[in-house]
Amino acid sequence: MEILQIAAAVLAPPLCAACGRSCRLGAVVCTRCGRRLAAAEPLLSKGPPGLDRAWSSASHEGVARNLVTALKFRRLLPVADLMADRIQWLAPAHMLSGSIVPVPAAPPRLRRRGFDPAAELAGALAERLGAPLEPCLSRRGGRRQVGKRRAERIGHPPQIHSAGTPPRSVILIDDVLTTGATLTACAKALRVNGAIRIVAVTFARRL
Ligand SMILES: [Zn+2]
Repeated sequence: MEILQIAAAVLAPPLCAACGRSCRLGAVVCTRCGRRLAAAEPLLSKGPPGLDRAWSSASHEGVARNLVTALKFRRLLPVADLMADRIQWLAPAHMLSGSIVPVPAAPPRLRRRGFDPAAELAGALAERLGAPLEPCLSRRGGRRQVGKRRAERIGHPPQIHSAGTPPRSVILIDDVLTTGATLTACAKALRVNGAIRIVAVTFARRL
């Protein structure tokens, strides 16, 4: 197997998921991008309305931004593992206690892509933390947010519904925190159905 991997690497050397340059066998990003990501500062705040706290591992720029794009549009699943590793290493312990609930993707978007970045990240993180994974939220209406102006996105919050009784303590997971309107809608649906403490953890945050 190893010989096959080496042969494959010689024929098609692995490329950095962030910058596209060649990188070490088995690595997701090159040394330079790895260093840049390591230098990025995590962000902790009160978070959007309805949340108790929000933490992001980096601002949505540079390498972090390229990785969000790689996961969302190029479906590079090892990127979800790298994101989960970074969150596990850097997030304060109080942000990682509770049940993991992925922010739901809009159904049309999910169908078009065939996979869901937030769900991938949530799964990878739950595995690392040994935390329960409870995908109890769903989303209706699903108009695309990408390309819409910020004011328009805030003006039309997504319709989020919770199936059954959600966990009492929730860690909402998404790849990137943008306006916070989606997180607020998630928190509302969770609290109405009995959640007490809700924090959000995202890989990146748009400032
Ligand atoms: Zn790179």
